[in-house]
Amino acid sequence: MRENPRLQAVQAVRQELATLGIDPFGVQIDRILSPTEGLIHGRRTILAGTNNYLGLTFDPGTIAAAREALEAAGTGTTGSRMANGSYAGHRELEVDLAAFYGKRDAIVFSTGYQANLGMISALVGTGDVVMIDADSHASIYDGCRLSGANVIRFRHNDAADLAKRMRRLGDDAANALIVVEGVYSMLGDRAPLRDFARVKREFGATLMVDEAHSMGVLGSKGRGLADEQGVLADVDYVVGTFSKSLGNTGGFCVSDSPDLDVLRYASRPYVFTASLPPATIAATRQALRTLSAADDLRLRLQNNAERLHAGLGALGFRLGAPANAVVAVLVGDKLEALRFWDHLLKHGVYVNLMVPPATPGGESLLRCSVSAAHTPEQIDAICAAFASWTGAKA
Ligand code: PMP
Repeated sequence: MRENPRLQAVQAVRQELATLGIDPFGVQIDRILSPTEGLIHGRRTILAGTNNYLGLTFDPGTIAAAREALEAAGTGTTGSRMANGSYAGHRELEVDLAAFYGKRDAIVFSTGYQANLGMISALVGTGDVVMIDADSHASIYDGCRLSGANVIRFRHNDAADLAKRMRRLGDDAANALIVVEGVYSMLGDRAPLRDFARVKREFGATLMVDEAHSMGVLGSKGRGLADEQGVLADVDYVVGTFSKSLGNTGGFCVSDSPDLDVLRYASRPYVFTASLPPATIAATRQALRTLSAADDLRLRLQNNAERLHAGLGALGFRLGAPANAVVAVLVGDKLEALRFWDHLLKHGVYVNLMVPPATPGGESLLRCSVSAAHTPEQIDAICAAFASWTGAKA
C-alpha cells in the first residue's frame, strides 16, 4: 500500500530522533514498582513525570474498592450510557463530585480530554463565540474545533486582553463562553481567576475552568484554584480529570446549571463512547474521599515542590513558575533538551520532555511533576541528576 504522506512527515521526525538513539515519546516502563518508581531499561528509575500528584495509584483502599467492583460488576460496561444504560456507580460518582464542589450537579465523561470536548462542543456552536487562553490544552482547542464556534484567543493569563476582546463583541459578549485552566500543565503557572471572574461578571458571560492540574493540589479539601482564589461560585463549569490527583482515568464537569443533564443528549463525546468501567468508578469514588481528606498529602506535596524548586533554582536552572506540583526547567534548544532528557533517564530519573508546538513561547522544557509520595531523598536524587548534566556538559 502507498505510504501516507502525512504520516511520513511524522516518521521523518521520529527517524531524526532515532539516529541520536533517543526515543523520548516511546518510553516503556517495564514494571511499575510504586507511585514514584519504575523499572526502565532494567534500571530502577524515579518517576518525576507522572501527574500522580497525591501518589494515590497504589492506595490500598482504592485498590480494594476497584477489586470489589471488578468482582461484583465485571470488567467493562461495553457501551455508552445513552444506548446501554448507566450503572448505579456512574450516578453515585456524579453525586459525589457535585457534593465535593458544592455544585448542583455533575456529569462524568470517559476521559478528561472528552470532558473538554464534550462540554465545549455542546455549550457553543456555529455562530457563537468561545474565548480561550492562547496556551490552552489540546482538548480545549479540539473541543472548540468540534463545536464549530468562532474561536478567539486572548493572551495567556491576561484578563485585560480578554476584556478588550470581549468589548469588541458588543452585545454578543454576554453569550460568549470563556475557557481557562487553573494551573497550566507545561509551566505550572496559575491563572488569575479572580480577574477572569471579574471580566465574566462585567460582560455577563459564561466561565469554564479546567482544574486538571489543581484538583487535589490546591484549595480547601483540594477543590482547586478557583476555590483557593475564592471564585468557585463565579465558575459556571468546572472541568476536571480523574487521571492526575485521583490516580485513575476519566473526566467530569460540575455546575449549578440546570442544563447539565440535557448535555447527556447533546454532547457527542458523551453519547458516542463507552462509559467508564465499574472498577474505575469505584476506585475514583474512593480516591475522591481520600483526596478530600488529604491535607497531609497536600502539605507533603507542597514541601516536595519547594524542595525541588529550591534545589533546581540553586543549580542555576531557569524555572517556569513559583514552586508548584509542576516544576518546569526551561532549556530552550530542542536538541539540548533531548540530550538532557536522555541524560536524566540514564541517571535514573524520568521526566517529561516537552517541545514546541506543545510548549508556550516555542521553548523546549523538561517538566517534572512532583508527588506527595516522593521522599525527600528522591527529590534530592532528582536534583543530583540535574546537577550531573551541568557537569557532563562542561
Ligand atoms: N486538561 C488538561 C489541562 C490536561 O493537562 C489534560 C491532560 N494532560 C487533560 C485535560 C486531559 O485529561 P485526560 O488525561 O483525563 O484525558
